[in-house]
Amino acid sequence: MTFTTRFAPSPTGPLHLGHAYSALLAHDMAQAAGGRFLLRIEDIDGPRSRPELADEFRRDLEWLGLEWEEVPAQSTRLATYEEAAHDLLERGYLYPCTCTRAEIEALEPRLGSQGAIYPGTCKGRLLDPGKSAALRLDVDRAMADTGELVWEDALAGCQTADPREAGDVVIVRKEAPASYHLAATLDDAADGVTLVTRGADLFAATPIHRVLQALLGLPVPRWHHHGLLLDDSGQKLAKRRGSPSLADRRESGEDGRALAARLRAGEFPAGITLANS
Ligand code: GLU
Ligand code: ZN
Repeated sequence: MTFTTRFAPSPTGPLHLGHAYSALLAHDMAQAAGGRFLLRIEDIDGPRSRPELADEFRRDLEWLGLEWEEVPAQSTRLATYEEAAHDLLERGYLYPCTCTRAEIEALEPRLGSQGAIYPGTCKGRLLDPGKSAALRLDVDRAMADTGELVWEDALAGCQTADPREAGDVVIVRKEAPASYHLAATLDDAADGVTLVTRGADLFAATPIHRVLQALLGLPVPRWHHHGLLLDDSGQKLAKRRGSPSLADRRESGEDGRALAARLRAGEFPAGITLANS
């Protein structure tokens, strides 16, 4: 199998230095392995998606001196997501949930790996075709059938996946035919990804992806969750804390290849890893 990794940004905001680091890492690993480096635009965030940003992203990557192979954007793959969700629903792994965020908060839910753990109010309910509902994973039911699952991270080693730490997460959103978890899992399989490269902030989401792979009979890649770039105050780089976007840097005339060289040389510390994220 050809070594294949990817960079999968969401066009909900501009790319920043952390994205550049992630893309360079994935690109360089693919190049070293004689493999493929894919770009996939994850544009199913409804109103938060700004399609014009995808072009900016391509300009940013070019500016950094990268070459890539672009695979279809998520918005073109909705039928695949619907089909998989339908399959999981028929097999009893998903249940409809009509709760609002406020209703869930009012129950003072426990905090899990992905935020509030859904207290299960709607579990066992049947789909009411007249009402818009999200579909949640019945994680206990899923784990009862899959048994213990393991996955491998290039940095952290072998992991036991316990998606129960996230609770019954949303697999199909009320307003979209998939959640990030379902879409990214299906796409990585469809795109032949053998190594999922992404930031350590998504480490805790991987058990959910691993259980979806088991339920859907998908191939299991390896993962590389890299540390997150820090700013001078030791915090994760973020636009809201004033770190300029790649587009800002590019438009101000900065040399992108020189920036890439500095990132490769480790000039920006990547301090937050899965252990403390
Ligand atoms: N689209 C996600 C993001 O921009 C990344 C998903 C992934 O790499 O799995 O945060
Ligand atoms: Zn509910």
